[in-house]
Parts: sequence; C-alpha cells; structure tokens
Amino acid sequence: MHLHENISKGEFPGPEHPIEVNNFVMRVPETGYRWIKKARVRPPFSSGLSGPPYMIISSLQASEVPAREYLPLRDEPNLFARFRDLPLDPAALMKFANQYGWIGETGRLRLVKNQWIRAVSLHTWRLEIQTLILADHLWKCICSDDRRTLRKYFRWHESEFDVRMAVGMRERDICAEDLSNTEPSVPSWLHWLINPREVQALQAVGWNRGDVLGPARIAIIKLTTPRLSALCHPHLYLDHKDRFVGHLSPDNLLGCIWLQFYMMVIGQLKLRVCTLCKMEMDVSASRSTRKMHDRCSRSVRQQRWRNKKRQASQGQACSPSA
Ligand SMILES: [Zn+2]
Repeated sequence: MHLHENISKGEFPGPEHPIEVNNFVMRVPETGYRWIKKARVRPPFSSGLSGPPYMIISSLQASEVPAREYLPLRDEPNLFARFRDLPLDPAALMKFANQYGWIGETGRLRLVKNQWIRAVSLHTWRLEIQTLILADHLWKCICSDDRRTLRKYFRWHESEFDVRMAVGMRERDICAEDLSNTEPSVPSWLHWLINPREVQALQAVGWNRGDVLGPARIAIIKLTTPRLSALCHPHLYLDHKDRFVGHLSPDNLLGCIWLQFYMMVIGQLKLRVCTLCKMEMDVSASRSTRKMHDRCSRSVRQQRWRNKKRQASQGQACSPSA
C-alpha cells in the first residue's frame, strides 16, 4: 500500500469518473527506438515475441537512458485514434513510437552476450492496430445503426440460436470472410459468439435470430476484454486525506490505448473536435458548449489582446497632436 503520488486536490474521482485512470506516466527514451532483424531468441524470455523484425530501445543500457515523460491518458485522450489510423509499415510505426513511446515489450532477446533486452515485434504492432480498427469500426456501425454493413460480418446458424463472426483484415481493410475460402485473410476472426448457457438471458434482453447489433457488441467485448485483463489492473491507494482511492492502472502504452477505447465505449471518455486546431479534445467533464482546448482558447484571447493593443497604438500614432 502506498500513497498515490499524482493525485492533487481537485482531481478526485467523482460519480462521473468513478475510477481515476489519468496518472499513467509514459517514458519515451531520448535515444529513440530502432528495428532489428537479427537477434537470438530463446524461451522462456522470448516466448511472447513473434518473428522479426523487432523494435528495441536504441540504447542497450535501457535503464539509464534519459527519457521524456508525459501522461498519455490526460495529455493525449485521442491517442487510440492516432494509433488506429497508423499506416502498418515499420517507418510509420517507428515515427509514432519516437513521439509517443512504444506499445510495450512482449519478450526479451539477446543481442550481446549475457544481456537480454526488451523487445516487441512488428507483428504485434500490426495485429493490435488491426484489432483496434475492427473494434472501432464495429462500434461506429452500432452507433449509426448500420445493420446493413454488420450483416456482412455476422451469420446466424441455420437452426441453432448461435451466430458466427466471420471477419478478416487485409492490411488496414476489413473484409467479410467467406467461410468456404481456403485462404482466409490474416488476421481473421471466425468465432461462434453465443455461449449455450446464455441463450435464455440473451432472448430475455430482446435478442432475436437475425439480429446483428447484439452480436457486434459481443464481438467488441471479445476483442477488448482480454486486452484489458492482460494490460490494465485495478489498484488501491490512499489519497492525501488518508481515504481509499481506486485507480485503474495500465501496464504500458498499449494498455492506455485499449483503456481509452474502453472508456469511450462505456461513455466515460467523450471526445469532440476543437474548432481551432481541429484535434480531438477530452470533453468528458466539460460543459456541453465547450468548443476548444483551454490552450487554444488562451491563444485566441492572447491574439485578440495583441490585436487590440496594436490597433490602440496605431490609433494613437495617427491622432493629431494637440
Ligand atoms: Zn485545440
């Protein structure tokens, strides 16, 4: 048990934000990251890594590398959207990593004798982006009641109360999988979605054969929940008044990204596009009329003030002297 270092006055979780999530600190090494193609892999150190290339921290003495710090969940509330929109090539992923940090290591490999260094493979980066593209697309289809699109991905069993998801990704494109196709897309998701024990409960909440909105919700749960379980953990802390405070803590940047997506789905994270800089801003705790970031609003006010001052001094210069 320890004191929560980052919670200051005014940041306490209220009824709208029952779980404080905003204090995860990401350290981005000043030396950056790099891709390597050859390294020695050996279980159990490397069992979480797929094949090369691997991303590693550029300096081998990773613990001593100077790093820039930021709070992704507070400073970049739309990071999951930036991640989702990334091209899948190594150069684009490296650019993202050097700006926001890598998604976290999934194993270790050996470059020099007796030194196992942290690494993550290109395959993991691509799979996480593709999974997020799919989850976000299903979410948007649900929000816009786009059943026509969803019908392409979900097929009901001819007689049983079960529905199958049949979706694949070809690079960044989502495609409905033809189950008779002997060469499905990679990656692909071809799962039956309904647990027989849940049939009655689902029928009780209004599920009918042929429905696709419900199955799309289950698909989002199946894509998101295992990642939250693996990467985000609840912690108990004491606040500065010695009261308990709960904190959902991601293990790494990938945890932050999936946590943002989760918060958006359950309605705790509300994003709106800033009218000045056109980037998304977090309006979860803001008034409904808020149009721009605080920093953008400040710069508009300063600009107005400067204009006014200039006009006043020009007016003075032009006025005839007495
Ligand atoms: Zn802005």
